[in-house]
Amino acid sequence: MAPVNIILLGPPGVGKSTQATLLGKRYPLITLSTGNILRAEVAAETPLGLQAKAAMESGRLVGDDLIIALVRSRLEQLPRDHGFLLDGFPRTAAQAAALDEMLRELHRPLTVVVQPILEHDEVVRRMSSRRECRSCNAPHTVRPEQPLTRCPSCGGELFQRLDDTPEVILKRLAVYEEQTSPLAAYYQKASLLAPVDGHGAPQEVAMRMISTIELQRLQRRTEPAKQVRTINA
Ligand code: ADP
Ligand code: ZN
Repeated sequence: MAPVNIILLGPPGVGKSTQATLLGKRYPLITLSTGNILRAEVAAETPLGLQAKAAMESGRLVGDDLIIALVRSRLEQLPRDHGFLLDGFPRTAAQAAALDEMLRELHRPLTVVVQPILEHDEVVRRMSSRRECRSCNAPHTVRPEQPLTRCPSCGGELFQRLDDTPEVILKRLAVYEEQTSPLAAYYQKASLLAPVDGHGAPQEVAMRMISTIELQRLQRRTEPAKQVRTINA
């Protein structure tokens, strides 16, 4: 069967990168997390990182051109026997349109856009208790009664992201509502959108996502996704 090509669409804190890791174990795919890629560029003080830093720290989006070029170069290098999973891209109408064009050129049609659903309060709670591993990038949740200091997977040091402070969290959610949430309607029109309940343990959510992906995959074999060329946000 053809490789699966997935977008994870949802606000910060909904569990996209946790699910990306789990889906990566189930399917032969390369995960492109634009947030992780940008954070690595910032840490290495590359020209791209220097351009992205201020926007990231204040919770705004990095420029479309920059991020589109970054995703394009990664997708071009993708092995033919692998699919992809996009975590954190596209985030604007312009990014979604550019992605459509790229995927047409590269003959890599989207299989499904998986949209984990959680209420606002739960998203804020998860983000506030989130820590990330410096070595393997894995996200972990700290509980007040037993604070974690080391990564349970690799023993690496855990830290709180600079943009996970209460003020920046609210800013990022507002940016999501305004610029990214309209993409759900866009992918809905293309019959690609699959909302999935985001509550419960990571494995449980992953199982829901896998059933959804398998269903879409079967449907894709019989009727290809509709082409949508305009975004009516
Ligand atoms: P979140 O937890 O907010 O989903 P990410 O790790 O995906 O965080 O992204 C962190 C920051 O990196 C964003 O707030 C934004 O500044 C920048 N960024 C990541 N992906 C994109 C994108 N596709 N377009 C613009 N900016 C992006
Ligand atoms: Zn780790």
